[in-house]
Amino acid sequence: MPLKGTDIVKKLPESGKKNCKECGFPTCFAFAMKLASGGTTVDKCPYLSPEVKAELEDALAPPIRLVTIGRGENSLQIGNEEVIYRHEKTFIHKPGIAFLISDIESEAKVEEKVEKLRGLQFPRVGLTLKADLLALRNESGEKSKFEALVRRVYQNTDAPLILISEDTDALFLARDICADRSPLVYPITKENIDEAIPKIKEKPTPVGVRGQNIEDLIFLTTKLKDAGIGDIVLDPGSRCFQQAIADQTLIRRAALKQNFRPLGYPTIGFPCFMAKDNLREFLVAAMFIIKYAGIIVLSDTDKESLLPLLVQRLSIYTDPRIPMSVEDKVYEILEATEESPVLLTANWALTYFIVSGEIEGSKVSSWLCVKNTEGLGVLTAWAAGKFSGDTIGPFIRKCGIEGKVKHRRLIIPGKVARIKGELEEALPGWEIIVGPREAAEIPAFLPTLVRQWQN
Ligand code: SF4
Repeated sequence: MPLKGTDIVKKLPESGKKNCKECGFPTCFAFAMKLASGGTTVDKCPYLSPEVKAELEDALAPPIRLVTIGRGENSLQIGNEEVIYRHEKTFIHKPGIAFLISDIESEAKVEEKVEKLRGLQFPRVGLTLKADLLALRNESGEKSKFEALVRRVYQNTDAPLILISEDTDALFLARDICADRSPLVYPITKENIDEAIPKIKEKPTPVGVRGQNIEDLIFLTTKLKDAGIGDIVLDPGSRCFQQAIADQTLIRRAALKQNFRPLGYPTIGFPCFMAKDNLREFLVAAMFIIKYAGIIVLSDTDKESLLPLLVQRLSIYTDPRIPMSVEDKVYEILEATEESPVLLTANWALTYFIVSGEIEGSKVSSWLCVKNTEGLGVLTAWAAGKFSGDTIGPFIRKCGIEGKVKHRRLIIPGKVARIKGELEEALPGWEIIVGPREAAEIPAFLPTLVRQWQN
């Protein structure tokens, strides 16, 4: 259970009665309450003993540690999740999707996979969906081949990397090549942990621990933590579908429900080692997206397989409390002019992208006025009073469209034809035209309308 303010205050100087205000809070109690809610940090109180400070930091740490792989804008953050079920609040850090590259693959295949990571990007609802990492595997068992692969990939891409080798020497030699990129070094096991700990501490980067079961993981993470190593990713070693679900669920529940620190880390899943064909591999990957993996490693991919997985990840890791929306403003579509038609819609992201796509499909350059409906679609926004004449009128006046066009004709969605009268009152001088009920009808509707205007 997370520490409460009332528990914290007892650990503060003079049992929370010093009240010297040096932390910026009027009392120790106020500081304790803020600390418990994450609004301040332990180091703001200069009078804590190192033991109490360490105890509080440990108790206040998130139940699943945030781990960062890679550096800079391409880095991947995983962990720090707060709920077991998405509908309780939201899942926060989407799992990284990695492509596996083996050192027995040809140079051409290596290049192809590096290029796939770079090239397979999909625009959707204003975001770019793409995979995130490359996992480099020492399958040959030869140090030199692995080193050559790591060097080549390191030089050709700035993607975050996972290094995989059963040979501890080869693993840390590879780590040395790309340590500045903060790769995930995998696997640390019961067999190599004593040899690995001093090497990890030499150049700290995240490490992936692999056990035969959950008990092994507890042993490994405890040992690493005692050595001062905290950036850990868990692999319980399960390689069958059912066991993987059981392990992932157990780890998540232990971390969140029991606040069990030895399992309070993000996990990694390997569909690439669990399925014999592409379809099964992507089904396993889809399971890992739902069931808590922080990283999912695929053997290879194509556009048709990757896109559904990325869309699934987007859906699961979108905050269900906040509808996806776009900025309320005037959007220009296809080099609009002062004669171009003006259309109106709501700012739910899906509405915007469908409507703007259909306008593009009509090949009629247009202005699209997107009103803030707090992420609601047209009909829902109308029912909630956010898409009425009273609210649209002031928006049209202020959004700047009157300076962009000579005419005063506004096309409204057919589903809210009933607001035509209200709008005519709210926007004197404007002609209100009822457009199609469905966006799919826009490509037929717009060119016809524009031809009528021209004749
Ligand atoms: S600095 Fe420490 S002792 Fe002083 S009021 Fe804040 S919490 Fe209390």
